[in-house]
Amino acid sequence: MKIPSLFKNKKPVLSFEIFPPKRGGTLTNINETIKALKALEPDYISVTFGTGGSGNQPLTLEVARAMKEEYGIEPLVHLTCINHSKAEIDSLLKQMEEYGLRNILALRGDRNPDIPPRNDFQHASDLIEYIKSRGDFSISGACYPEGHPECDSIIQDTLNLKKKVDTGAEHLITQLFFDNNLFYAFQERAALAGIDVPIDAGIMPVVNKKQIERMVTLCGASLPAKFVRMMNKYEDKPEALKDAGIAYAVDQIIDLISHGVDGIHLYTMNNPEIAERICKGFINLIK
Ligand code: FAD
Repeated sequence: MKIPSLFKNKKPVLSFEIFPPKRGGTLTNINETIKALKALEPDYISVTFGTGGSGNQPLTLEVARAMKEEYGIEPLVHLTCINHSKAEIDSLLKQMEEYGLRNILALRGDRNPDIPPRNDFQHASDLIEYIKSRGDFSISGACYPEGHPECDSIIQDTLNLKKKVDTGAEHLITQLFFDNNLFYAFQERAALAGIDVPIDAGIMPVVNKKQIERMVTLCGASLPAKFVRMMNKYEDKPEALKDAGIAYAVDQIIDLISHGVDGIHLYTMNNPEIAERICKGFINLIK
């Protein structure tokens, strides 16, 4: 099943993101995670991919294969290009074909100062163009409600996103955000630029302060005052922070659904218990 086709019949589409075990890790824990997430009836689950050097790339495809074959869930395979040659991408695509994996989230990947980039691909759109020339894959892309941190202007970022869609991205997933108004403004800019593919809103529950601070440093998402107040008030009470973080995510999701969002993409951090508690908070809205 091609993921963009899901959006023709259902709104909002529900999806999760998981990450594979590091190289040398086993698939046992992740299989338990997938089993627990399956009970929440997601329309698809995406599996992240290391930028290169982190050593978890081979397991991305193994996790996706198990998800499809053993659990009957459609996987979306993340694929980054900045540190890969065309030959390496060819070999990954060949393996995906052998595994029957047809959905790719095509990404540039973050720059890593310790790993010099290969020069075969500069942008995600180069990877998209290349994948399209190599086989029958359906391609999704990443987008940034607050603009990508490297881009000088939000308008230029939107124009670059339009190029990504024109090259072949049929569906987009946003970076995490904590202020829905930023997402609605982004939707408007995208529509004005002529971007008309479905957009999943990426939601990350805060369950511990350190984790969110690390994510936010990496991706540059801004933190609304009420969110910061919540984190500061409960930072030393893990269970209270978890409750508050779950309530915040549910509140965000209900507002997005009321605004007719195409899809909700939950960054699960491989924690099915949190995913379950969040889904319980809005599941009747999407039945
Ligand atoms: P691009 O689309 O190439 O954009 C990067 C920058 O280049 C932007 O500033 C953009 O405006 C600019 N740009 C784009 N196209 C052009 C062009 N044609 N000309 C000039 N400028 C251009 N990282 C991982 O390593 N593994 C993962 O599994 C992973 N999953 C992710 C999932 C989601 C939903 C998101 C939102 C991000 C994910 N990332 C992942 C992080 C991602 O790799 C980084 O955000 C990276 O810095 C940019 O990737 P991109 O595909 O958006 O790049």
